[in-house]
Amino acid sequence: MDCLFCKIVDGQIPSKKVYEDERILAFYDINPEANIHVLVVPKLHIDSANDINKENSKEVAYIFEKIPEIAALAGITNGYRIITNSGPDSCQSVMHLHFHILGGEKLPEHIR
Ligand code: 5GP
Ligand code: ZN
Repeated sequence: MDCLFCKIVDGQIPSKKVYEDERILAFYDINPEANIHVLVVPKLHIDSANDINKENSKEVAYIFEKIPEIAALAGITNGYRIITNSGPDSCQSVMHLHFHILGGEKLPEHIR
């Protein structure tokens, strides 16, 4: 499959890992938009949040169970923002579901 994040999950493309287990991978964004910017992906390929369904939603729930640990491992101590872009108008650029974890500084109050 020609998917950048599947290749990162497979190790075909290197990444700076924060956390990995059999179901998910967390790694630093190559182009950080905050002092600390981590991406969390399910190892199962899901295109976007718009493609979460009864069969795959357990992977998403598991990501959210693990996010506090991942944020702490990344050195985030004072809160964070979770973002996922879904579809063209959101400017989603990688079609493999991922959650941006942004922190390590006071973030702008509003984004648009
Ligand atoms: P999106 O725009 O789809 O919400 O987010 C995709 C994110 O993936 C962007 O923040 C971008 O910087 C990041 N990204 C793109 N290619 C790579 C890569 O090869 N390695 C890493 N670590 N991040 C990447
Ligand atoms: Zn993928």
